[in-house]
Amino acid sequence: MKLNRRRFLGTATLATAALSAPAVLGQTRPRVVVIGGGSGGGTVARYIAKDSNGAVDVTLIEPTRRYYTCYFSNLYLGGFWDYDALGHGYGTIARTGVNVIHDWAVGVDRDVKTVALASGDSVSYDRLVVAPGIDFVEGSVPGWNVSQQSLMPHAYKSGTQVQLLKHQIETMREGGLFVMVAPPNPYRCPPGPGERVSMVAHMLTQSNPTAKILIVDPKENYSKQALFEEGWERHYPGMVTRIGPDMGGDDFEVRPESMEVVIDGEVEQADVCNVIPAQKAGRIAELAGLTNDSGWAPVMPADMRSRVDENVFVLGDASAQGDMPKSGFSANSQAKVVANVIRGELTGSRIFPARYSNTCWSLIATDDGVKVGANYEPTDEKIASVSSFISQTGEDADLRRQTYEESIGWYNGIVADIFG
Ligand SMILES: Cc1cc2nc3c(=O)[nH]c(=O)nc-3n(C[C@H](O)[C@H](O)[C@H](O)COP(=O)(O)OP(=O)(O)OC[C@H]3O[C@@H](n4cnc5c(N)ncnc54)[C@H](O)[C@@H]3O)c2cc1C
Repeated sequence: MKLNRRRFLGTATLATAALSAPAVLGQTRPRVVVIGGGSGGGTVARYIAKDSNGAVDVTLIEPTRRYYTCYFSNLYLGGFWDYDALGHGYGTIARTGVNVIHDWAVGVDRDVKTVALASGDSVSYDRLVVAPGIDFVEGSVPGWNVSQQSLMPHAYKSGTQVQLLKHQIETMREGGLFVMVAPPNPYRCPPGPGERVSMVAHMLTQSNPTAKILIVDPKENYSKQALFEEGWERHYPGMVTRIGPDMGGDDFEVRPESMEVVIDGEVEQADVCNVIPAQKAGRIAELAGLTNDSGWAPVMPADMRSRVDENVFVLGDASAQGDMPKSGFSANSQAKVVANVIRGELTGSRIFPARYSNTCWSLIATDDGVKVGANYEPTDEKIASVSSFISQTGEDADLRRQTYEESIGWYNGIVADIFG
């Protein structure tokens, strides 16, 4: 529901209503508001503040005080990474000059250019960046809704769900069954479910070697499929089974109370069930009227500008842009393009042609890393892949170890770029 202007102003105090009209207060600096302090929003806020040297007033709205990356959360499941090492605070972003507000954005009035906060306050903008990540499509997994996430965790958003999932796997009965309900396209981190299966298999091989893993997948095929299948056969023989749509993997229902998964009419008793539902843009993008029937927010390929409002940019997972996968790397890459464009429009600095890139690394077993990536350029229609690469099956152990080490370098680099 989009807040109408009357109701929106009605929720603001006199002081904040005045703040939403910067001209009245003699506000001279142009104002940028960023909704969402994740990989995309954190980057764009920091880069605009840093590069404009205080010429632009940047406000970041993010409810949590600590952002836990989804990237490397699978490695935490596998025992390769500490949970604490996934968490990053907003101190450095604030010290760069960004006004960080820990609150939810609950509405956007694009006519008067204001964002309403859950506290009842509002902030006004000249340019708005919407980067809220994903939400789940209700009803996409029959029998599951978000109130059952403690019984059948998704562990697919930043936060404590992944700790719960790890605890459930660690305490699973001997010889138990771990089921993953994989999502349909498009979803964040295309190789994420395959990497998660690898890391769960790694953990079970050590602590519960007679346990089994069952993947229920509505997709014909999935990212890095040949690499994962080769790795599972080599490292975890006989542990992982996948039921694709040809075997009824697109016809399922879950029963969280009894821990049952019904696949093509047959009931499987799960001990742990990881439900990763179908996805759409974070809800605030829809409330702001930026999404279409696909559930994602269409943007211009050259600069991630919303196709429905020239003062609004949508970046990261929430955007519908073309060929780039929904990843932290992509969101960070898009954010730098957006920061350059917004700063140019507001301060007159030079705007460079957009170039985007992405690499997604996955760990299959100890020192067995693989990657897929591409460079992208904007066309009239979409952000298009112009060159791509992928690890090959049969690569030697040295190369796989180097690829894994590269991924650690990438993790340390991106979190330093955003939060460090
Ligand atoms: C298991 C897993 C593994 C992954 N591995 C990788 C990997 O190896 N490499 C990689 O590049 N990517 C990986 N990803 C994907 C990556 O995490 C996401 O693509 C990336 O975080 C998207 O960035 P974003 O800024 O769009 O959204 P997010 O990083 O999710 O940030 C969105 C932020 O918006 C905030 N927000 C939401 N609604 C509101 C609101 N109404 N008001 C204010 N704030 C709001 C949220 O609190 C959140 O902090 C992985 C994902 C998963 C689930």
